Amino acid sequence: MIENASIPKVTKVLIVEDEPSQMALTRRALESHGTFHLSVAQNAQEAFHQLHESVPDLILMDLGLPDGDGLDVTRRLREDERTRWVPVIILTGRSTVVDKITGLEVGADDYLTKPFDPGELVARVRAVLRRKQSLGPLTDFENEGFKISADRRQVWLNGTAVAMTPKEFDLLMMMVSKRGAVITRDEIGQVIWGKSAEESARTLDTHIWRLRSKLGDFAERIETVGKNGYRFNS
Ligand code: CA
Repeated sequence: MIENASIPKVTKVLIVEDEPSQMALTRRALESHGTFHLSVAQNAQEAFHQLHESVPDLILMDLGLPDGDGLDVTRRLREDERTRWVPVIILTGRSTVVDKITGLEVGADDYLTKPFDPGELVARVRAVLRRKQSLGPLTDFENEGFKISADRRQVWLNGTAVAMTPKEFDLLMMMVSKRGAVITRDEIGQVIWGKSAEESARTLDTHIWRLRSKLGDFAERIETVGKNGYRFNS
């Protein structure tokens, strides 16, 4: 299912990186594939400036920037209407578990520790783009006061708009688009985070919990099935 989705011919990628040698490596890895249009920013301020000019299809984000932290930049991107949905892959020298979890929780799509293999970077970039595509095309949903606009990426419960993070919305849409069917934790992990059920366990649990608490009276629409599955009941 995921493998069959095609990738747009030219993908605009913004590389945010202050280390010239690392920037060169990353550029070379993507340029050798020839399907990417690259722009670069050497600090957080430059990144915001670039994003103001044009919104890329994907962002590669270094964490240690001279004027800020890539996690904060990612968090800010997620708060901005224009950039909320742009996939972010964090590239960092830090390899602590806390950073990885924080990275995924602020809405990054993947996390790669330096030094990385150029082929691995390109594979991750492609996987993230495919995952974004495998969620679509999404359709609107409306049932007894539960309403979703796929285009606006907005959920309403009995007429009240509910704020959701991009990943919470993706997760909900994944379940809604397969409503009535059981989807496994592994499928969710692969599609939403590109990770196995094991690797995404904590993040997935947090997201399911948050989603249910945001759905209030509608929480029971998300049913736990057995040990490893969920089903959206409409
Ligand atoms: Ca750096």
